[in-house]
Amino acid sequence: MELKFPIYLDNNATTPMDPRVLDAMLPYFVEQFGNAASRNHSFGWVAEEAVDYAREQVAKLINCDPKEVIFTSGATEANNLAIKGVFEMYASKGNHIITCTTEHKAVLDTCKHVEKMGGSVTYLQVQPDGLIDLAELEKAITPQTILITIMYGNNEIGVVQPIKEIAAIAKKHGALFFTDGTQAVGKIPVDVMADGIDLMSFSGHKMYGPKGVGVLYVRRKNPRVKVTAQMDGGGHERGMRSGTLNVPGIVGIGKACEICRLEMDAEAVRLSIMRDRLEAALTQIDESYVNGNVQHRLPHVANISFKYVEGEGLLMGFNKQIALSSGSACTSASLEPSYVLKSLGLGDDLAHSSLRFGLGRFTTDMEIDYTIKAITETVLKLREMSPLWEMFKEGIDMDKIEWAHH
Ligand SMILES: *Cc1c(COP(=O)(O)O)cnc(C)c1O
Repeated sequence: MELKFPIYLDNNATTPMDPRVLDAMLPYFVEQFGNAASRNHSFGWVAEEAVDYAREQVAKLINCDPKEVIFTSGATEANNLAIKGVFEMYASKGNHIITCTTEHKAVLDTCKHVEKMGGSVTYLQVQPDGLIDLAELEKAITPQTILITIMYGNNEIGVVQPIKEIAAIAKKHGALFFTDGTQAVGKIPVDVMADGIDLMSFSGHKMYGPKGVGVLYVRRKNPRVKVTAQMDGGGHERGMRSGTLNVPGIVGIGKACEICRLEMDAEAVRLSIMRDRLEAALTQIDESYVNGNVQHRLPHVANISFKYVEGEGLLMGFNKQIALSSGSACTSASLEPSYVLKSLGLGDDLAHSSLRFGLGRFTTDMEIDYTIKAITETVLKLREMSPLWEMFKEGIDMDKIEWAHH
């Protein structure tokens, strides 16, 4: 096998679609184009059957009832529906929501919106390893708390939160528990029954399925959860999400879930071995640091800071060959350091010098070999030219230096 460039190591941003998923979807564009809500003819029946089958494939992966699966346009929509939908549906019970500072923007910005609508939101700080403090979570709960929303696995550092424990605390205090499962579902075993999750979002394009389709799981028993629809219309998806179903997309996410269910255990082993090898090699470099808890972590993610080099500069050194994200590129076009890394207590220097490695189903050992070599060489080369590195080598205490802020 030959190396093909560029090497893709940004699987947390999106994954390529598995060709088996495409094969499953293809008949539903042209031949079987029916509207799943058409009850009077076979075009509709065929489409509905395909959707029902996909619902079962999804349900099997997360261990829920197919009726508890609500199809959406992605995780962003599912997060909006979960948070705003609970806020509206349970307004008579309370108006308080608890989340944490390292959540995806689709959760944080939705919470900000809820604040504008009269909600009150607590943003828990995380510990230096990225995990929330369960005692602090419990302390934050008030009689007004209707929802706790904490993500399953983090998209930047891969840290996996203590989901079962969080769910138990929510249940004890009569609050609902929603988790953004986008980075975890299909990568590690996620079981909504065993975990005690009330609502959970995830997305097709983060699990080798198509873009533009996602799921909101909404529990129907113990307790029966309901969310207020955020879109009015035909009352699809048990009234919670109107709009003609994206049949090919739904078939695709169904197939993606099935493949993940059958292959994820072996894939997690393969990816974590490659990830650990990458990490072990790159932390041979002086002054490199792994960000986030390394025990409670997704198998395919590593986030490493290379002190005294600039992440963006580092990327420029090899971005024709390797597609990666840096800790400063995440939040749009601005060069703000990642708010997730800042939440861990990293200074601007370490946050700016970080790279996120997101391995995936199609990552090969040869690609990891190349990446190790390219990054090591680039870091060493950039440091040779860096006055900061020289000062550090001369033993100047960098923490005592006053930096100009802009
Ligand atoms: C990608 C991602 C989202 C957004 O998903 P879309 O389907 O692209 O809207 C939400 N949360 C997390 C954790 C993500 O990684």
